[in-house]
Amino acid sequence: MSTTLLPGRNLAKLIQQKAHDQARDLETEGLRPTLAVVVATDDGSTHWYVRSIERAAESAGINCRIVDLGHGATGQVLASVLKDLSAEPSVNGIILQTPLPPGVDADGLVGHIAPEKDIDGANPLSLGRLAVGQASFAPATARAVTEILDHFDIPVAGRNVVVIGRSGVVGKPLSLLLLERDAAVTVCHSRSGPLEKYTRTADVVVVAAGRTGLLNGRHISSGAVVIDVGTNVLPDGTLVGDVDEASVQGIAAALTPVPGGVGSVTTSLLLLHTTEAAREQSRALVLGTAG
Ligand code: NAP
Repeated sequence: MSTTLLPGRNLAKLIQQKAHDQARDLETEGLRPTLAVVVATDDGSTHWYVRSIERAAESAGINCRIVDLGHGATGQVLASVLKDLSAEPSVNGIILQTPLPPGVDADGLVGHIAPEKDIDGANPLSLGRLAVGQASFAPATARAVTEILDHFDIPVAGRNVVVIGRSGVVGKPLSLLLLERDAAVTVCHSRSGPLEKYTRTADVVVVAAGRTGLLNGRHISSGAVVIDVGTNVLPDGTLVGDVDEASVQGIAAALTPVPGGVGSVTTSLLLLHTTEAAREQSRALVLGTAG
């Protein structure tokens, strides 16, 4: 069996075009959607990533306001900035970019992002709403996985889907999105025991652990679809996923590449969530239900 690569770039372009169309419609109402990205680090790769969001936003007709508080920002300052941005009518979407300064806890801060502007599903309220099937923004990475499955017509209803990783930003919200789509979902983590016990019978395996080479050909059955969310930087600077790509070749039916897979779709979804948020906020203003 040959393994088909599932690149994310075309899908990312389609999603970005949708965001662009929505931004253009909003512009006719005199509204230009605005995304605020709060940064508090001097980590070069984070700044590179934030600039790439800024470029993508601008080309989609979305303002991107980077609020750089520097690597010495305190939790108190960050909390107050998030509260101010949440209250500011001209801001439609807010992301708190990690890493944060040492000793500053992201979990304690994301609750200050207003749920209607929480376009990366970071506020615990967003995860709670997702859990009970209420409308909310899912974390963009989790939604990127389901968008890729849809785009390539990979069904999950009634199928065994194994998610490796249980973080609040990827594994948990993704398992909720998959349950919503009637998949039989198993979530593995660092203490669930040998992976092959779960993955050998899986139709779809999603790996989001941040461990180079965690999943290899011995873990999966012939014909499985493998989605690699992991991003790991090797000592020579190469970006790789969590899957040992060479060993799954010829066993997996399909595999997302790293780079060029889930990551490219994630950024475009942040833009689409921003225009969707702007649209909802504009409707709420018209109906007098805002805030
Ligand atoms: P995280 O918070 O560190 O969570 C990692 C999860 O993997 C944890 O649940 C952990 O289990 C589990 N895990 C670690 N080692 C394992 C092992 N040997 N066997 C089974 N499970 C194991 O990371 P994250 O934020 O979810 O991100 C996961 C990966 O996705 C990272 O590589 C990150 O860079 C990448 N990512 C990519 C994108 C994108 O757009 N492409 C976006 C976000 C994240 P425990 O809970 O037991 O510790």
